Amino acid sequence: MKQIAVLGSTGSIGTQTLEVVRANSDIKVVSLAAGSNIELLEQQIREFKPKVACVWREEKARELKEKVSDLPVTITSGMEGLIEAAAAEEAEIVVTAVVGMIGIRPTIAAMEAGKDIALANKETLVTAGHIIMPLAEEKHVRILPVDSEHSAIFQCLNGEEKKEISRILLTASGGPFRGKTREEMRAIRVEDALKHPNWAMGRKITIDSSTMVNKGLEVMEAKWLFGVGLDDVEVVVQPQSIIHSMVEFSDGAVMAQLGTPDMKLPIQYALYYPHRRHLGGKRLDFAALSKITFEAPDMVNFPGLRLAYEVGRKGGSAPTVFNAANEMAVGLFLDRKIGYLDITDIIEKAVEEIPFKEQPTLNEILETEQATYEFIKGRWSD
Ligand code: NDP
Ligand code: MG
Repeated sequence: MKQIAVLGSTGSIGTQTLEVVRANSDIKVVSLAAGSNIELLEQQIREFKPKVACVWREEKARELKEKVSDLPVTITSGMEGLIEAAAAEEAEIVVTAVVGMIGIRPTIAAMEAGKDIALANKETLVTAGHIIMPLAEEKHVRILPVDSEHSAIFQCLNGEEKKEISRILLTASGGPFRGKTREEMRAIRVEDALKHPNWAMGRKITIDSSTMVNKGLEVMEAKWLFGVGLDDVEVVVQPQSIIHSMVEFSDGAVMAQLGTPDMKLPIQYALYYPHRRHLGGKRLDFAALSKITFEAPDMVNFPGLRLAYEVGRKGGSAPTVFNAANEMAVGLFLDRKIGYLDITDIIEKAVEEIPFKEQPTLNEILETEQATYEFIKGRWSD
């Protein structure tokens, strides 16, 4: 019996993880964590019977405690509770599916406790990769990618030697605004940006996909996960989202992983690695598909991707500023307080203004995050 913890269980990745659990009889959930959706969390507690469940907001945790007082589950809250859920004694694998930098501390706590990480929360690696990757080595824990592109790369690397990688070809759909100029994107509303052509995901990552900031975060995520240089990761736009990513080797061979867009595949692969399991759902029909097309990414009209390469090359605290500025700007856009183009403008200004640290400690990363929020608050959100 495989025992897992699911952080962010009420979200897009969290609920799909629980679908995988539901379809397999040899996997058990020992802890769950969510932000505030206690209605869904209560249903999950009743169905999956975890020992621990965490709700970020304390008053919501109190409410939930009453609702599930008939069950033997411990309800926790806040960062302490999230860490407790991440480090729950029996858990072997922790699925990190919370959104944003809030994932860093529980991920570190889980690794300290010797748990493998099924990593969806890319923000953690982008901002703290220089802490997470050496810690994984020290604690002998695995970081198993859940992000579809990184899972594809991980699958392409099976049985291969890392030194033979010549390029990682990270595929991108290009999002709903592919082909548009910045001027044409000026009036984009929240509803427009929340429509992704191929994937149904949480709100933040859907906006990130539309600005290509998500792809920028993924370039940095790939650098850390696979130990390659940032410029060895090349973005290839493949609008049908059929090729989930590719690796080119030193002899010129290119390996790719293909499939219908379904996050349950990478989630299940991470949970059962190195084994594969049956997974229901549609299969690729190449005759019906007829063609897969490719193009180069547009770094001019999508400056989020260009900026990601810049901060990724700079390293240190620069990716934290990029990520924190994006988190806050996307929140402001979703609250209709700023325009669509302001998202990448805010990132660019924050990256210019926030002081740089070469090798930030965890505290310095969190301080840089706060400094970035303060900088934006003073200028855009009052
Ligand atoms: P969602 O917004 O759908 O879900 C986020 C989850 O995190 C929810 O369960 C939410 O709880 C929970 N949460 C938010 N804040 C806190 C907090 N302070 N403490 C505890 N839990 C919290 O996001 P996604 O599932 O789309 O994305 C999750 C992560 O996975 C992101 O890092 C994203 O980049 C990554 N990812 C997602 C993909 C996808 O297909 N969705 C693909 C690849 C990567 P509540 O519901 O109560 O608010
Ligand atoms: Mg992805």
